Amino acid sequence: MSNIEGSALIAQSIQREGINTLFGLAGGPIAEILGYAPHYGVRPIGVRHEQAAVFAAAAYGYVKNQAGVAVLAGGPAASNGVTGAHVAYDNCFPIVIIGGSGSQRGRYTGMFQETESVLLYKSITKMSVQVDSAARIPEYLSMAFRRARSGRPGPVYLDLPSDVLHDIVDEGSVVWPHNYYTDSPPLGHPDQVKRAADLLKNARRPMMIVGKGVRWSEPTRELRDIIELLGMPYLTSPMGRGYIPDDHPLNFNSARSDLMRSADVVLVVGARMNWMFDFGRRFAPEAQLIQIDISQDEIGSNRGVSVGIVGDAKCVLRQLLVELAPSTADRGRSNVEEEWVATLKERVNSNRATLEPLLNSDDQPVRTYRLFKEIREVFPPGTIYSVDGQITLAVGRQVLPSFTPASRLNSGTNGCMGVGVPFAIGAKLARPEVPVVSISGDSAFGFNAMEMETAVRHRVPIVFVVSNNSGIVGSSLQKIMGLPEGYQEGVATFVPGIRYDKILDAFGGHTEHVESPDDIPGALKRAYHSTQHGQVACVNVITEPVETTMASTDWASALMGY
Ligand code: ADP
Ligand code: MG
Repeated sequence: MSNIEGSALIAQSIQREGINTLFGLAGGPIAEILGYAPHYGVRPIGVRHEQAAVFAAAAYGYVKNQAGVAVLAGGPAASNGVTGAHVAYDNCFPIVIIGGSGSQRGRYTGMFQETESVLLYKSITKMSVQVDSAARIPEYLSMAFRRARSGRPGPVYLDLPSDVLHDIVDEGSVVWPHNYYTDSPPLGHPDQVKRAADLLKNARRPMMIVGKGVRWSEPTRELRDIIELLGMPYLTSPMGRGYIPDDHPLNFNSARSDLMRSADVVLVVGARMNWMFDFGRRFAPEAQLIQIDISQDEIGSNRGVSVGIVGDAKCVLRQLLVELAPSTADRGRSNVEEEWVATLKERVNSNRATLEPLLNSDDQPVRTYRLFKEIREVFPPGTIYSVDGQITLAVGRQVLPSFTPASRLNSGTNGCMGVGVPFAIGAKLARPEVPVVSISGDSAFGFNAMEMETAVRHRVPIVFVVSNNSGIVGSSLQKIMGLPEGYQEGVATFVPGIRYDKILDAFGGHTEHVESPDDIPGALKRAYHSTQHGQVACVNVITEPVETTMASTDWASALMGY
């Protein structure tokens, strides 16, 4: 019988789960996991900060519809990943974080990097445990993947003491779990489905909300069928875009408030009524909600529902379509008030018209809107955009469309700054055939800019655009934060006109620096072209420090762009 080391069992468990890329930062006691990984066909991506490993793993999992895997060394390395787990938890992203720790046999003696990491991760994971023996590693990993991916997805933390990782066990004694998932996602209760169908059939002003919870069963066909069958307008959450292509005529994201205020029946699919939807308060008090969610806990939170259906989005939408199809076919037309839709359409058009001058502005410094318009024109429709920042995020939301599933990544539910660069790296590794563009405000970019080196070293060709307005919300925050009159030092503003492109120059890549709006298209095209030849590109664009339309103190609104 041959022997096998704990670290190798980890690598093999990851391979058996069907995952071929992991993200980590080599160090004790986990370096050997990264070393064993390629022996099992798993590519280790070595980042520059553990936070980025977890962010990249989260995006990788989201884009690939898998669990992401991050491998972190002991002590501070494990705690550096905490924000990543927090982001994954708040966004319901499935990831497995493997963190190293000191030997089990020396607990509480003041060993090097001895940390209670399990407790650090406890409140922001679905499961956080220490693995007790090398032989049980495959069992723990199967548990971790199942927990991460089943029901509402989320992060799992596994703590790996050095003696467990380095232990050598007889391969024959290792039990490999099989079939550790169900392949039947839950259907909705038939009575509730019937009631939902009745509400929708009789609605005069029905609408649908699509959230990023649809990622996992990807009901693209069903979402489209249901809005088209009923002639029902829809809107999306920031990351719920692209599951129905944004150019669909029933997309009313640009008349969001009007639509939410005037609907009589609201079908919510894979979205939470949290701050992003104003806790459901923006709907009319008499509006009736139908909520489809895989998590029973979620249904009815913040806003009462008329029908709550616990189940998988795709399954339940199919059930609803079966209920709806005959009756709408009988009637030959939908019940939806045409005038209402026409009024909403007018609002969409007038909202779009107000953006026109901003999109075409020749101002210098460049308007953020103009920058996004040029990005929209240079990159093809399937491009994955990773957008991070404040003004950057808000403007991106209004200007950049998405046409395919999981092609829109942003700071998500908890608005974490700094996700943009590592999210782009994870996304590009998940779908190398698709162009990936990261657009960050200069502040957001600063958090993980060093990861451009990771992209260069691992040959992950991404265009990194920096909307450089020299501060947090440009110069706006510094003005309103209450500093004494005439205060000179930049607290929320940075050295003006920083050449972020030169950072990439130091790593080796294609760089562009732009000050005039007319130079944006050329710079973006050259950058895109360089990525098609395997290079990493950075485009530093000096943008307007006071984006007046966004100089709002209503952070949540500014962040989400409404
Ligand atoms: P968004 O930010 O896009 O509104 P959220 O992350 O707030 O999305 O909400 C996603 C919701 O989707 C969560 O409540 C989660 O439980 C739910 N969800 C996850 N997977 C599924 C699924 N397969 N079917 C239905 N709902 C799901
Ligand atoms: Mg800025």
